[in-house]
Amino acid sequence: MDWFLPLFNLVIVLAFYEGLHGLLYYKSREVKREGKISIRVLDINEENAVALNSIFFRNSIVFLSNKINEKILRHEEGHTKQFNYVYAFLILIAVVFPFYSPVAVPAVFVGKFLIWKMERDADLYAYYNYGIKYESGAERPKSRLERLKEWVLDSHPPDYIRKEDKYYEKNNNLFVLFLQDLN
Ligand SMILES: [Zn+2]
Repeated sequence: MDWFLPLFNLVIVLAFYEGLHGLLYYKSREVKREGKISIRVLDINEENAVALNSIFFRNSIVFLSNKINEKILRHEEGHTKQFNYVYAFLILIAVVFPFYSPVAVPAVFVGKFLIWKMERDADLYAYYNYGIKYESGAERPKSRLERLKEWVLDSHPPDYIRKEDKYYEKNNNLFVLFLQDLN
């Protein structure tokens, strides 16, 4: 077995992921601390935030504007408490891929589903700990293709799903919600 390629891939994934997190950490400044969580600001005028959840950079939330939005904060707080499935999966694929390359196609689907899962878990965290539901004026598109696009192209489940009550019921499996939405 040749271990050069798996190792090479692993180093690339780690360097890229940790590097990106390191960049966000060192470019931002801490404005507040909540327990072990550092709340930071890197003002690029975007009302959003990123939770740092890598091996070396964790327990930090970086806001991309000067405004610390409470709802976004609680969603991101959920991310800081998660096991990072997406990162673990990327590492796994990086190592396995050279041995078994047909893994690439299913990997895209599994990866996408893990991202949805982590986003939904963070939404559930904000809801069950702080009573915060995602608010949006988004309407469910009438066309099935448009709905599919919303699911596939966004990093979160679609806004019109995230605002619904059934999305916050833990028993409703996210994959089932997805299938129902495409019906
Ligand atoms: Zn999120």
